[in-house]
Amino acid sequence: MYKYVGKSVMRGIAIGRVYLYKKSDIQVTDQKVTDAAAEKERFLEAVDRAKAQLTRLYDEALQNVGEDHAAIFDVHKMLLEDEDYLETAAGEIESGYNAVYAVNQAGTQFAELFASMDDEYMRGRAADIRDISQRVIRILLDLPEEEINSDEPVVIVAEDLTPSETVKLDKKKILGFVTVKGSANSHTAILARSMNLPALVNVDIELSDELHGKTCVVDGFEGEFVVEPEEEILSQKVVRKNQWVADLEALEKLKGQDNITKSGKRIDIFANIGNVEDADAACEADAGGIGLFRSEFLYLGRETFPSEDEQYASYKAVLEKMEGKKVVIRTMDIGADKKVDYFGLEPEENPALGYRAIRICLDREEIFITQLKALYRAAVHGKLAIMFPMIVSVDEVQRIKYIVEMVKEELASEGKPAGEAELGIMIETPAAAVISDRLAKEVDFFSIGTNDLTQYTLAVDRQNQKLEGICDTHHEALLRLIEMTVKNAHEAGIWVGICGELGADTELTEWFLKIGVDELSVAASAVLKVRGAVRALP
Ligand code: PEP
Ligand code: MG
Repeated sequence: MYKYVGKSVMRGIAIGRVYLYKKSDIQVTDQKVTDAAAEKERFLEAVDRAKAQLTRLYDEALQNVGEDHAAIFDVHKMLLEDEDYLETAAGEIESGYNAVYAVNQAGTQFAELFASMDDEYMRGRAADIRDISQRVIRILLDLPEEEINSDEPVVIVAEDLTPSETVKLDKKKILGFVTVKGSANSHTAILARSMNLPALVNVDIELSDELHGKTCVVDGFEGEFVVEPEEEILSQKVVRKNQWVADLEALEKLKGQDNITKSGKRIDIFANIGNVEDADAACEADAGGIGLFRSEFLYLGRETFPSEDEQYASYKAVLEKMEGKKVVIRTMDIGADKKVDYFGLEPEENPALGYRAIRICLDREEIFITQLKALYRAAVHGKLAIMFPMIVSVDEVQRIKYIVEMVKEELASEGKPAGEAELGIMIETPAAAVISDRLAKEVDFFSIGTNDLTQYTLAVDRQNQKLEGICDTHHEALLRLIEMTVKNAHEAGIWVGICGELGADTELTEWFLKIGVDELSVAASAVLKVRGAVRALP
């Protein structure tokens, strides 16, 4: 038995035989051609044929995995129309090289460029560049399109899988996949999730021929890939798998159903996300909208502030993916545990009680204004709601509203189209809950952040594992603050949701409905579980 660890990009268990997927080696030589003009013509024809293939793949994917995922082939077509890419390849041909070599050079150069970018999403695009280059090269060499063929259901094990290979997998024949390379943000991973296939990337395994046909287990819960499992391990995995399948089957039936109790009370169930790709999981889970987009993730893991245009592109992408469903985007909550060097924040004794979130935004308005401009521009593309974190006073909300008006005027004077957005606040400090009657008159909605509300109400540091025992998430004080907030929201005629982890606590679902909570925003993987809990209520 051999056990390998990897990064799980889709939970679940697959048990079956290894299908070793190795791409046929394409020989690329730097041979020169005599007629560069004719070679360039050949290259452009190959690009046209590649685009025609991509149109067909788009249609196939539309049937099999839906529009969101088919969109990758449109992206590939766009990449094939990129002037820099085409000119790089054409330039190599003009210097006398053959078209295959030229495309290979351009592909390598652009893939390296993407792979070196700070942004995780952009890094994921390196695979797409390689994919389109391989497509053109295969056409130039007159090789057939590569497909994975197998009669029995198998576990695909590969160095890497391009998005076009992944999308062509016949779901009935594939149990899961394991790749040596790949990132959690790659389209391969995204598609795997949409297909519900257990998948691991970054598995450090040598792809030797003996692997082919061996029994294996892909455990997407533990991030394990086991080849030739011992009897005992195998039976443990079988038990886990059966449980997983049963759970999935039960939950699948809830898709398309309303979040309604037997006596007819309904509630919205939305999803929490941290990046653009998470919106796919939200759609897949049949979430009614996005209740919390933690926009600070756009600021993390990079060296400089995300520009207005970069942010606009991300917000627009989420709004478009949600196709008119409500998307609540929270302005950045940097500070406390979310530290970013380029903000130049000073070390603090008590960061959770310190300079964070809206406190930074109201102090360093240029950061806030950039984000608000991006948000209002994106609002044109869907149903946007903007939410502000860590509020403690009415003054803060009035100042925010003043800045919002300034931003709208600035956009108008710059001639940039802007849309409309609901404005809401997070109720995540005891102060905000206690004055929620006054705050409710200022905004369109509340969303209760129970993670911080618990920490500040119980004086329990949410990062301190030692305090887990006394961190009572059902504490009477916390529940009273929630109830008070809901009552005050409704008296002022605004809606109120819960976006902290407590929203997914099904022991409280009945109580949330009883006190009149309008919306629960939970992890995408919890949407159907909570729907099930609602529907089981009398
Ligand atoms: C919360 O505090 O409950 C919340 C949703 O925000 P975060 O967990 O990002 O602090
Ligand atoms: Mg919070």
